Amino acid sequence: MRIRFALSAICIVLAAAAARAADRPNILFIFTDDHAPHAIGAYGGILREMNPTPNIDQLAREGMLFVNSFCTNSICGPSRAVIQTGKHSHINGFMHNGNRFDGSQQTFPKLLRKAGYETAMIGKWHLKSQPQGFDYWQVLPGQGDYYNPDFLTKNGRVRVNGYCTDLVTDMAIEWLDQRAAADKPWMLMCQHKAPHRTWMPPMRHLGLYDDVEIPEPKTLFDRWEDNASPARHQEMEIDGHMNLVYDLFLDPPPNWDPNKGKSMDRSGFRNLMKMTPAQRAKWDAAYGPKNAAFRKAKLSGRDLIRWKYQRYMKDYLRCIKGVDESVGRLTTHLKKLGLDKNTIVIYSSDQGFYLGDHGWYDKRWMYDESMKMPLIVKWPGVTEPGTKNTDLVQNIDYAETFLEIAGAAIPDDMQGRSLTPVLKGQTPPDWRKSLYYHYHEFPSVHMVARHNGVRTDRFKLIHFYQFDEWELYDLEKDPDELKNEYGNPSYAAVVAELKGELARLQKETGDDTDMRAMSKEWRAKYR
Ligand code: CA
Repeated sequence: MRIRFALSAICIVLAAAAARAADRPNILFIFTDDHAPHAIGAYGGILREMNPTPNIDQLAREGMLFVNSFCTNSICGPSRAVIQTGKHSHINGFMHNGNRFDGSQQTFPKLLRKAGYETAMIGKWHLKSQPQGFDYWQVLPGQGDYYNPDFLTKNGRVRVNGYCTDLVTDMAIEWLDQRAAADKPWMLMCQHKAPHRTWMPPMRHLGLYDDVEIPEPKTLFDRWEDNASPARHQEMEIDGHMNLVYDLFLDPPPNWDPNKGKSMDRSGFRNLMKMTPAQRAKWDAAYGPKNAAFRKAKLSGRDLIRWKYQRYMKDYLRCIKGVDESVGRLTTHLKKLGLDKNTIVIYSSDQGFYLGDHGWYDKRWMYDESMKMPLIVKWPGVTEPGTKNTDLVQNIDYAETFLEIAGAAIPDDMQGRSLTPVLKGQTPPDWRKSLYYHYHEFPSVHMVARHNGVRTDRFKLIHFYQFDEWELYDLEKDPDELKNEYGNPSYAAVVAELKGELARLQKETGDDTDMRAMSKEWRAKYR
């Protein structure tokens, strides 16, 4: 009798545990570096016809795609720190890429662990300090390499031969295999280096798009005539700053000085030296003939810009093809393990990117191409398949969302808002009507002036406070942000209202960083 009672008690406990696990879904967070929404088929745009991301598009068909998804600070490390903490850069302390993340602070993985989740982080971490709050982690040091990358683990540094996106996917799959029979819910951050500069595709895609002409953005030859002055003094132009050797893998000319030049990313150039002879032979066989044809053509002016754009975009999209295949492998594997019904799958990237828009590559600006982030969420049984959401959401909301999904309390000091009701199709009536943005890195690589600003669904006000210059865009009439309406008297009321809103957001988010204009002498150095 007593034994029977004990057995049935155990059964009840086990059933309760199973029910709890079922109540609390697993979270697979697939996160990339510099993948602009306009390079995802489901987001539309001029690249859509090239079908760059069939697997990510499939995720969008099964879940919710956020059209108005933004970051708070368009740069790699800071975006990741915002996601970890649910706090703005000026509060979590990781304001620019030179910072080191204070991992001792409160983060959502730590809170998920406390709530009974198993947590793992595999791939690109990019926060300098050692990951905290994870049962398991295996991360790239710094930016990591595309080919034969090193990984940092709890047991030290290891080098693994192969292509980074594929290796990170293999490691994630291996970790998932061990979760199939687990009784705990889990959260896995699978984070890729791709498609970050310098764009090195997987070997199997070195010839992809060879016979395709990539459509050009209509602002490829923008001269920033109507912008405030910072746009004319940056260093991120395909024309003037994208390097033929380091960024586009042309052979170095004779007398090449590898140390010359500003804003250079030499990581790809160095990574070529790290390839195995077999890898290098394949690489050279693919690029050699194309490089020879380029040298022979002796291009200049707009023809040269067009050629650079084509080479850049093909390599970028080839990297993305590798990412898309990773998404396909991971989602297929979840099904195979029977985990697909109770796992939320999220695709996102740390910010947007200029794909020749305004003549640029890179990110940083509050303009939409880089302020936007892709965000696609498939929550089986909860998100209506194939829905597009237009609410203003930001990476500051992710931590809160994960906590609410896990049934954990959201700490009062987090600054975003859980997207859970939005994902259920029930956006609260008091959802935010404006977004706060602040970029903190100048003078620095690419020379984008510091700025903060406010974006609503219709307008965007930007303050380049170091230079005391302003921009206002009417996104309804001018989605490409080409006409600065700041000085236009017919927008005076809009400017006044948005300045008030900016001041309110600055106060609400506790942003008391120094935003005074610099001296005329200081400004003259950069003009
Ligand atoms: Ca990035």
